[in-house]
Amino acid sequence: MIRVENVRLPLDAGLPDSDRLVTRAAARALGVDAGTVAHARLLRRSVDARKRSDVHFTATLVVGLSDPALERRALEGETGCARGVRVAPYEPAAPLRVPDLHCASARPPRPIVVGAGPSGLFAALYLAEAGMRPLLVEQGQPVEQRVRAVERFNRGGQLDPFSNIQFGEGGAGTFSDGKLTTGTKSPLARHVLSWLVDAGAPAEILWQAKPHVGTDRLVEVVRHLRERIVACGGEVRFDTQLSDLRLHEGRLTAAVLRNVRTEACEQVPAAQLVLACGHSARDTFQLMRNAGARMERKAFSLGVRIEHPQGLIDRAQYGAACAHPALGAADYKLVAHLPSGRNVYTFCMCPGGEVVCAASEQGGVVVNGMSRFARDTGQANSALLVGVGPGDFGSDDVLAGIDLQRRIERAAFACARKAGGDAYQAPAQTVGDFLSGRCGRASAAVRPSYARGVVWADLRACLPAFVCDALAEGLRALDGRLRGFADPQAVMIGVETRSSSPVRVLRGASMQASFVAAASQGAAGAADALDFSEPDALISGVYPSGEGPGYAGGIMSAAVDGLRVAEACLRHAAAQAGVS
Ligand code: FAD
Repeated sequence: MIRVENVRLPLDAGLPDSDRLVTRAAARALGVDAGTVAHARLLRRSVDARKRSDVHFTATLVVGLSDPALERRALEGETGCARGVRVAPYEPAAPLRVPDLHCASARPPRPIVVGAGPSGLFAALYLAEAGMRPLLVEQGQPVEQRVRAVERFNRGGQLDPFSNIQFGEGGAGTFSDGKLTTGTKSPLARHVLSWLVDAGAPAEILWQAKPHVGTDRLVEVVRHLRERIVACGGEVRFDTQLSDLRLHEGRLTAAVLRNVRTEACEQVPAAQLVLACGHSARDTFQLMRNAGARMERKAFSLGVRIEHPQGLIDRAQYGAACAHPALGAADYKLVAHLPSGRNVYTFCMCPGGEVVCAASEQGGVVVNGMSRFARDTGQANSALLVGVGPGDFGSDDVLAGIDLQRRIERAAFACARKAGGDAYQAPAQTVGDFLSGRCGRASAAVRPSYARGVVWADLRACLPAFVCDALAEGLRALDGRLRGFADPQAVMIGVETRSSSPVRVLRGASMQASFVAAASQGAAGAADALDFSEPDALISGVYPSGEGPGYAGGIMSAAVDGLRVAEACLRHAAAQAGVS
């Protein structure tokens, strides 16, 4: 079998039952007769829309030719391949080999994994497959109940601070577009995709250049991942929060677990704990700070969600081809580098999606975006963000970024209330009004999809002036990259504050956090007296993982980091227990 890169495919090859077109394209690319192609399968496929008049797919295929001699000739470039086509031997990726400690004579004690987002789920699954019987604790509810909590809130109910768009089984990415694109080059990414497919994600994520799952499918996938963890000997406890750490001489000895519904606490002995708490776990960051974990402030981004008619984006991206059924709703990814040195960029774009109420604290408004697998709401939304750094936080405190987020979320809540809105309605403004300094008028083209409803207001009342100035400048610049992006009737909905974590929990080469010795007895409140810059190389047994502690940005990189951390955790546990 051979791997054939840079194969041009017509758009019709993206329709159901189009194997014949793929076979023909493979033959054309290789310069052989279509009758000699025994087999052609997609390894990767992307849309090439660089020329609006010639939108097509570009693919990498694995091809089997009926005659081995012809395959050898194709590999040697003797068949007259089409221009740009590259041919190489096909080497299938080996499946992930998880060490098996089920039968080890001295099995290490079971690790605790905190947080059932992508990072914690994949860490727990790896550890469970290895026979480590991990205990996975999640402060929110199982995904089935969580879906109902989110629906209740969307209909105007109370915010559940532990089960919402940010928290609960599946983590922050469950109510999302489920985009699985990632900048990480780790070979582990392939294994994450294949474990997701095993759990019920659509098989096309294995070859789509921009794979996505959608909220409706993710809910099922998350449930199946949990079932697999349990089937492999893991235990999952919901409504259970890590509320304190017990350390002795900088090493973990136990975790204090609190049931968030009954307030019952239990101290569970542990030598290893994976901290996969996500970027919104503010009380968990406080816990780490109190325990003396070495942490630092981290840059993140602030801004709004911008919502357009999907048709406007489709036309801008695909021109006349936009009606082709194989294309689906178009996406975009834009960035403008402003003369001020700030960057304005779009993030987590949701084609055919909706804007969601992503608050996790009472009295604060936070927006984000999600879509279903079909991406068929007819509206497109994306974060429009300005990068902010520790210098913007207004304090040297390690948690100053969280304070800034909280101030802005509360300002958005207050702004909407002042403009006559109900609790958790979001302030919104058309792009035209935002750019001209007016407010209060509804959009004639976009009906904001934010479920709790929007109030037409002045976004400058909730975001810092430097963020608003950069957004205005950025909108004009980005309109030059995507025609209609700054359409006066497009809608900006505030505020988007949880783009990534505002802190980093430092970890060393061993993937473990270190704790300043003075606070190593779990003494809450001792942190104020600590020097967080003090270097400390202790092997603590606490493994920061995923987006919250600052090691990932998105579902895929969080899951990959979970696997890396689990590998390290397993290695150290096995070494300590004398298991080879
Ligand atoms: P999280 O997913 O945040 O999970 C952390 C979990 O830990 C939470 O469930 C939380 O309840 C739990 N927890 C925290 N503290 C404790 C504690 N003390 N005790 C017990 N449990 C605790 N990324 C993409 O790549 N593609 C997308 O399409 C996408 N869309 C998104 C849409 C929305 C609405 C949101 C909010 C995010 C989206 N993201 C997307 C970002 C993505 O969800 C995150 O990058 C990813 O979920 C991070 O994974 P994680 O496991 O590190 O943390």
